[in-house]
Amino acid sequence: KVRVRFAPSPTGGLHLGGVRTVLFNYLFAKQQGGDFILRIEDTDQSRFVPGAEEYITETLRWCGLNPDESPAQGGPFAPYRQSERKAGYLQYAEQLVQQGNAYYAFDTPQELEDMRNNYKTAENPSPQYNHALRSKMRNSVSLGEEATRELLANGTPYVIRIKMPENETVHLTDMIRGEVSFQTSQVDDKVLLKADGMPTYHLAVVVDDYLMQITHAFRGEEWLPSAPVHVLVWRYLFGEENMPQWAHLPLILKPDGNGKLSKRDGDRLGFPVFAMNWTDPRSNEFTQGFRERGFLPEAFVNMLAVLGWNDGSEQELFTLDELVQKFSMDRVHKGGAKFNYEKAKWFNQEWIKKLPVAAYQPLVKDILQQADINIADDALLTKVLELVKDRCTLLTDFVQQAGFFFKQPETIDTAAIKPKWDDKKQLFFVELIRAYELDASWEHDELEKIFKEIAAAHQIKPGDLMMPLRVMLVGGKFGPGVFDIAVLIGRDNTIRRIKHTLQ
Ligand code: GLU
Repeated sequence: KVRVRFAPSPTGGLHLGGVRTVLFNYLFAKQQGGDFILRIEDTDQSRFVPGAEEYITETLRWCGLNPDESPAQGGPFAPYRQSERKAGYLQYAEQLVQQGNAYYAFDTPQELEDMRNNYKTAENPSPQYNHALRSKMRNSVSLGEEATRELLANGTPYVIRIKMPENETVHLTDMIRGEVSFQTSQVDDKVLLKADGMPTYHLAVVVDDYLMQITHAFRGEEWLPSAPVHVLVWRYLFGEENMPQWAHLPLILKPDGNGKLSKRDGDRLGFPVFAMNWTDPRSNEFTQGFRERGFLPEAFVNMLAVLGWNDGSEQELFTLDELVQKFSMDRVHKGGAKFNYEKAKWFNQEWIKKLPVAAYQPLVKDILQQADINIADDALLTKVLELVKDRCTLLTDFVQQAGFFFKQPETIDTAAIKPKWDDKKQLFFVELIRAYELDASWEHDELEKIFKEIAAAHQIKPGDLMMPLRVMLVGGKFGPGVFDIAVLIGRDNTIRRIKHTLQ
């Protein structure tokens, strides 16, 4: 059975690229009738950030990409938080030492620092702990068995490092990139187990992918350089069998294509880069999210799916179910995909039009409430949303486009009507109020007819009066048909708002 995992480290809010990794995992799993697992990789406690795991869980829920197994739900391979699996990793690290694939290293932070300084050369400005320097450092390879035993018996702090072979080529078949090979001499002896007994990511990811029976490991391209370490650790511990198939997903690039899209680009260019709002509890730094910016989860997911993938046709709008059916790893592009915020907004606009308003009415209601617009009449809200939805790109646009139906505008753009205002117009509106007070129908066509008749009687072009009426009713030069608005806000509100501006 296909089993895939999203394995984030809880270090902060989820970047677009992270959510796209979730999405591709999810689509592949569901298409193959498999399971999608959320595993929290929190073994690096110095990078642990409170609230980050909850944020990840909530993002997945918002996007509708719910895992089959996770820390919150549990599952047959629990626990799903690596810090809770700590006790299990030591035996694998020791097995590697016994097999000669790893070794104990006793170097102090000062000794490591000295290494980096002493072996620095012009060609090699940042020397690595590797096959070339291994013999010069304090470890079980250089010290021999007896000295090692003694140091261990004395309780000397140690880490366990992988012994990267010299001059070997590690091959890997990536589902997106095809054959990829690495020279082992170019990879350093990564730490697998730290002095506090916690595994590093490199050990934990392999052990857990094995124990959780992961069949396919999809992750960001930034992990490709670590892949030879993972392939070797897997081979040394578990043989070739059951090694997952790897896919390293291309990066999401800055709008100009110049490097990886970062949080900072979003701040600089004024668009969100995270899934949801995030405030870092350590620095209080705030990063805006797509959700709060007014994106529908359907649009967000759709937009992410086509960043670096297409189904070979011109189709751009896909539901999650369609994506599950049509997704295929071999149509994922090898190159990075440029992020385009205007295009992201276009997706949202299309989804606002495409979905029945009932699908997002509760979201809009919340947004209106946050803007101090309370909705007592849900049926009226439905009608309003139907009327204005084509004018909204983001859900937050409904504050401007729908708010005035429920609340008298706080500010009136009088500058838009003042310059062309005169007594004739004033008189027209006084008469319009009188006629509207008497009109029994309160229907669109009737209101329009009355309006035009009075305009004709005053010899003013109806077009010159329409905009002032609009500004009086909604506060500015926007909104749907002015008589549609009058019908929905009702007679009392219509008349009150006209009077309010006339005074
Ligand atoms: N913990 C890694 C991360 O934070 C996961 C990489 C992987 O999926 O192997 O991205």
